[in-house]
Amino acid sequence: MMMDPRVLVLEDSRSDFELARRELVKAGLRDIEWARDRGSFIEALERAEPSIALLDHSLPDFDGISAMRLLRERFPDVPSIIVSGAIGEEIAIETMRAGATDYVLKDNIERLVPVTRRALHEAEQLRARKEVERELLESRKRYELLFSSINEGISMHELIHDADGVPVDYRTININPAYERMIDKPRGDVIGVTASAMFGRPLHLDRYVKVMETGESVSFEDTEIRPGKVLLISAFPFEPMRFATLAVDITYRKELETQLEERARELARSNEELQQFAYVASHDLQEPLRMVTGYMTLLQKRCDGQLDDQAKEYVRFAAEGAARARDLVKDLLEYSRVGSLQRPMSEANMEHLCDLACINLREQIREEGAAIERGPLPNLVVDEVQMVALLQNLISNAIKFHGPSPPRVDISCREDGGEWVFCVKDNGIGIEPSYQERIFQIFQRLHGVGEYPGTGIGLAICKRIVERHGGRIWVESSPGEGSSFFFTVLKSGRS
Ligand code: ADP
Repeated sequence: MMMDPRVLVLEDSRSDFELARRELVKAGLRDIEWARDRGSFIEALERAEPSIALLDHSLPDFDGISAMRLLRERFPDVPSIIVSGAIGEEIAIETMRAGATDYVLKDNIERLVPVTRRALHEAEQLRARKEVERELLESRKRYELLFSSINEGISMHELIHDADGVPVDYRTININPAYERMIDKPRGDVIGVTASAMFGRPLHLDRYVKVMETGESVSFEDTEIRPGKVLLISAFPFEPMRFATLAVDITYRKELETQLEERARELARSNEELQQFAYVASHDLQEPLRMVTGYMTLLQKRCDGQLDDQAKEYVRFAAEGAARARDLVKDLLEYSRVGSLQRPMSEANMEHLCDLACINLREQIREEGAAIERGPLPNLVVDEVQMVALLQNLISNAIKFHGPSPPRVDISCREDGGEWVFCVKDNGIGIEPSYQERIFQIFQRLHGVGEYPGTGIGLAICKRIVERHGGRIWVESSPGEGSSFFFTVLKSGRS
């Protein structure tokens, strides 16, 4: 809310003051203070800043012009009006020269109000203008502080056109200290210099012209502005025909990225080598193992009559050992194939793939009298052969590790956000919580081969298959109550 203007009246005559006051009150000005001499005038100034001063030209011990000087010393922007009994041309000139806003003759006191009003209005306008200027100065100071203390390099440029108005070059008009440091050149070597002079050609001109034409900023990486450094440059228009760039030194980040890429490539290479090795080793091991098994069988057949019971047992042990080694090698081969044999993914009906897995397991299902329940399953983009192997491994385990009651296996699937969550649930012996992670590692088994047959590779294969499809695999189980194996497949698929 605007305060009422405070009008300070210097007047030695009470009746003249009353006259002036009446006029002012009539015009709605209520806050009027009377000073009758020099002392009370100074006191009034000390109390508070007036909005305007109406000054009698001549008083016994004082005069209007001196009062005005006192006022202006203290409050330079407060307007003052000289009020006088009679005013000659000289006095009028003197008062205006001394800085009075206006003067009024006492005979013509009805002018007092409009003159006061106008002076107040002008003073208010002056005050508002000064406020705007002050704010402008402040914001300029803030901008300059930002410009000079910011860590990003800022540079400003002006487009240069040829006679046909085609942009052909640009010149630098300002840079901040950060940019100076970034390019390692003093301001003086850069300001006013054209890009062609600096780089031998108008570097990135096309991009900057586009920025000016579209009004949209662009970002790009540069290695020429400061040789040996990678700068991330964002360019944006800021005035007609002028654009600014913001530069961030990303050399270090780039080096890290390159190192990381290099490492990833190395890792992929060594991984591939390892897979190749596992594949070749397991593949080549099969041959000698086949020979051992073959000759053991031959030995059993040919020399059956000539061997005593102990020797027969030894031969049987050797044959079993060789058979087991063959199973291990076969599974190992399978395991190494998951990563190395990359078939393309295709859309498949998971119900169909699950039924295929059960057909492959029909012997086991029949022998164990297992009941298999399958809920509705979605169509997915997968490696079909691997999906059958995955389901087959999980269903086979669910049957194999059964408890006293006949095995029951439930296969189901639900949606969860961006993925499908499959579940193969059994009513078998269950798994101790402390083993629930370990079983997905290669060769990790919780039982002897005599108890439950197997190589301990099945779940490791499952994990590889699931991960190749961008999913996770885990088990939830309580010993004696059965297990639920879960795995996820990304809805969008992975190519
Ligand atoms: P394998 O079945 O050849 O032993 P896996 O890698 O398939 O190897 O399984 C590793 C171990 O995890 C198994 O030896 C078994 O102890 C445990 N396991 C796997 N599936 C089940 C299940 N459905 N119920 C209980 N234990 C299981």
